[in-house]
Amino acid sequence: MLNLILFGPPGAGKGTQAKALSEELNLEHLSTGDMLRREIADDTPLGRQAKAIMESGGLVGDDIVVGMIKNRVLGVTANGFIFDGFPRTLAQAQALDELMASFETSIHRVILMEVDEEELVSRLLKRAEDEGRTDDTEEVIRKRYQTYLEETLPIAEHYAQQNKLARVNGVGSIDEVRARLLAEVPQQAE
Ligand code: AMP
Repeated sequence: MLNLILFGPPGAGKGTQAKALSEELNLEHLSTGDMLRREIADDTPLGRQAKAIMESGGLVGDDIVVGMIKNRVLGVTANGFIFDGFPRTLAQAQALDELMASFETSIHRVILMEVDEEELVSRLLKRAEDEGRTDDTEEVIRKRYQTYLEETLPIAEHYAQQNKLARVNGVGSIDEVRARLLAEVPQQAE
């Protein structure tokens, strides 16, 4: 198996790149943001619970997102996984380590896509305008970035200690960034 995490702030391009890499490497793409948006679109109890949190720029509870990931990992046979937008807290990272261990595998590489705050804000404001996401105001975008700095970025250290962390420049064309990511994908994984 080959298990990767695409890591980085909101607006870094994780979703676009994870989709392309999952096709290229034949891995299952798991995005907790996409799963939560589907729950909202289906108007499920979970979706109704998550909606306000997502709109305010905070994080949905660990138990909810860990439960969604477990269901998906248990429900498919795959060559491996690309996690996108998960884990976002240390508790999620630890739960993921345990889940991988229960399959006698592990996370092989965590690739941090680096993009500075002003570039992120301008990308996300443009996306909000293009897609008519009126909830994505500058204030919410900056709040999401703060949440990333406070709750998510510290777990990069968890993976650095395990010698699993790579950093790539996330600014450039989609193809340029994809090539940088591919260069960090291990050739051999157990
Ligand atoms: P994303 O599309 O990954 O940026 O996720 C959109 C929103 O969904 C985030 O701002 C969070 O509110 C919520 N979310 C997505 N993934 C997670 C996660 N792993 N843990 C907690 N909240 C999450």
